[in-house]
Formats: sequence, structure tokens, C-alpha cells
Amino acid sequence: EIPSNEDTHKEDIRCLTTLSHFGFECFPTQMVNKSIRKGFSFNILCVGETGIGKSTLINTLFNTNMKESKSSHFYSKVGLKVRTFELLETNIPLKLTVVKTVGYGDQINKEASYQPVVDYLDAQFELYLQEELKIKRSLSDYQDSRIHVCFYFISPTGHSLKSLDLLTLKNIDRRVNIIPLIAKADSLSKSDLQRFKSNIMRELTSHGIQIYQFPIDDESSAQVSGQLPLAVVGSMEEVKVGKRMVRGRHYPWGVLQVENESHCDFVKLRDLLLSTNMEDLKDQTHTQHYECYRRNRLQKLGFNDTGRNNQPVSFQEMYEAKRKEFQAQCQREEEELKHMFMQRVKEKELTFKDAEKELQDKFEHLKRIQQEEILKLEEERRKLEEQIIDFYRMRAASDPPQTPACTNVKKD
Ligand code: GDP
Repeated sequence: EIPSNEDTHKEDIRCLTTLSHFGFECFPTQMVNKSIRKGFSFNILCVGETGIGKSTLINTLFNTNMKESKSSHFYSKVGLKVRTFELLETNIPLKLTVVKTVGYGDQINKEASYQPVVDYLDAQFELYLQEELKIKRSLSDYQDSRIHVCFYFISPTGHSLKSLDLLTLKNIDRRVNIIPLIAKADSLSKSDLQRFKSNIMRELTSHGIQIYQFPIDDESSAQVSGQLPLAVVGSMEEVKVGKRMVRGRHYPWGVLQVENESHCDFVKLRDLLLSTNMEDLKDQTHTQHYECYRRNRLQKLGFNDTGRNNQPVSFQEMYEAKRKEFQAQCQREEEELKHMFMQRVKEKELTFKDAEKELQDKFEHLKRIQQEEILKLEEERRKLEEQIIDFYRMRAASDPPQTPACTNVKKD
């Protein structure tokens, strides 16, 4: 029935409440569910001298067990130790890969210390690039090994950065997000620590070293920029403070609580890393550092987005140009090889001819000698025969003539 007037119609409208969300407002939920199903992964690189507290800090952060043997200071070169942990926190799986330097700063020639770190970072980018360039690529289930953050552990000297620190940081800052940390911060007083932090930041700026820029749209991240480098303390020990057991380091003068914000910046680091910036660090790795590697690498291979006169070049054109260039190069090399081969054959022919002539000369010489020998021998024989004839003649002349009973002289 069609209602006669509008008022009666309004009264008839029923208000229904929806049982669940629908429409595109569910999109974020779908993404969260998909990500949880897939699991999360994160790769950390720890660079710092032997015994500076790298393993202890990672263990404190993630409740892992990174350390298996005592650190040695006697490695002839810097190496990298890779460990992967499958972690679970309230049903959220995290595949954490920790790469740690071994023997860093222990060699006399410190120049070579940063190279293995640079090589490792590039090698992970290269693996990703190779996967990306495959025709049948599977980036969705690719085990990404690119480093998302580098914790650079600074010795708590209280003065300034070492030349090794500057050298390494300068060489890795375009390859990875660096978060500088003052290790074993419990060895410095609060005022020394503040001065040390300012000195380090001044040095980093004056050397043009880029560290990870925390996003300014997040309040806690923006605040921390003024507190860098974060001063951290690591410990796996549980210490009793009042009635509570806390993570800390026990000293005769008191307990340093790792998770107390007035004692050190550990909690800040943990919150910044795990609660707010893990995704941004992954994002920066892909959009900034990997992109830079990819661009340089492809340019070195001869690819370019623009050709002559700044005109865009299609991939097809570029491929054709490269193919022609390659073919021309192959032809040039083939010609060169042919030429070289002919040259070698000619040289060999000449040496064979020389050897043949030498042999011929030798043969002729021997033949001549032999003929001379024959002639000489024949001459001697002739002389001997004459001597024999003379001898018989003389004997016949000296013997009295007799009637021979039986003479049988044989003459040759
Ligand atoms: P790595 O070689 O850099 O991995 O160093 P480790 O984590 O194995 O630490 C070496 C030693 O330093 C161990 O005896 C740790 O207990 C100690 N250590 C680690 N972190 C701290 C810290 O924050 N403060 C102090 N005082 N000692 C620490």
C-alpha cells in the first residue's frame, strides 16, 4: 500500500543496527589479517667493537639468546654472524634476523674493517634486485634479507667518535637506516653522557653522515631526535628492587634498571623500534636505500630512462640498442681473435720452416762428412792393397827360386 502522506511514512521506518562492519571500512582489517597470516620479518645489523654489548642488547630487546661463545679479539679480519629467530608475541609471529659483526675494530689496519659490512649490505640488495629482474618472480613470498636498521654501537669513551666509526658510518649511511647507540652507557655520568651526545651529533653533522630520521608526524619519534644517540644498557640479569624483580645491572652503589627511563634510553629505543617505527624502517629501506642501489646498478648496466635530447626511451629501444652494441662488440672480439690466430699460425710456420732448414743443413753436413770418410777409407784401402802387393813382390824377390812342392799363394 502506498502511504498517503509523508508523516505516516516516517513513522513506519525501522532503525536497524548492523551485526558486523561492511563496505570498504573493512579494508584495514583485511590488511591486518593478511599481514598476520603472512607473518612479519625484520632484519637488524649490529655494528660495534668486540665485547661492546651487541648480543646483550639484542637479547634484552627481544628476549633471545644470541650469544653462544665468548667473543675473541684475535680474528684476522672482520666477519658477520647471521642468526634468525622465530618469535611470537600474542599470536603475532616475527621472523627476526640479527646480523652481528665479529672482530670489528680488532685489526691493526682498520681501513678494511668496514668493507665486509658494505659488501653484506650490497649483497642483500643484489639478491632482491635479481629476484625482481626474473621473469617468473615471486616477491610476495621472497625471504627479504635486506637490512632494515643498523644499530651502530659507539664506545662510551666520553670524548668523540673514533676514526673507524666515522669511516664506517660514512660508507654505510646511504645503504642502511642508522640508529647510533652509546653502548654500556652505565659507564658514564649523566652530565658526561649529555656532553658526549652533543659532541657525537656535532661530529656526525660536520662529516655529513646521515642517520635515520625519525618521522616527525609521530610525537614520541619527533621528540627523540634531540636525544640521539640513544644511551643504552643491556642486561639479562633479574635484580631485586624493592619487592619487584627487574632487568638491571647490580653495582655496590645501587642497581641500574634497564627499563627505567631516568637510568638509560633502553625503553625509548624499544618503543621507537618495536611500537612506532618498524614499518617506517622497512619502508625507508625499500624506497630510499634499495632504490638508490637499484638506480646505480641499472645505470651501470647501461639502462637509462632518457636517451639523447632527454627524450624518454622505451625498454624495447634500449634493449635493441644494447643488443646491437653487444653484437658489434662480439664481432670486434671475433675479428681480433681471428687476426691473432692468423698471426700465431704465421709465426709457427716460420719457426717450423727455420727448424726444417736447420735439419736439412745438418743432414747435408753429415752426408758430406760421411762421403769424405768413405773417400778417405777407400784411399787407405787402396794404399794397403799396394803395400800388400809390394810386400809379396819383395818376398818373392828375396826368396831363392825353388821348385815348389806345393805352393798355394792366394792373391786378392
Ligand atoms: P658483543 O661481543 O658486542 O656481543 O658483547 P656482549 O653482549 O657479549 O657483552 C660483552 C660483555 O659486556 C658481557 O660481559 C656483558 O655482560 C657486558 N655488557 C653488555 N652490555 C653491557 C652494558 O650495557 N653495561 C655494562 N657495564 N656491561 C655490559
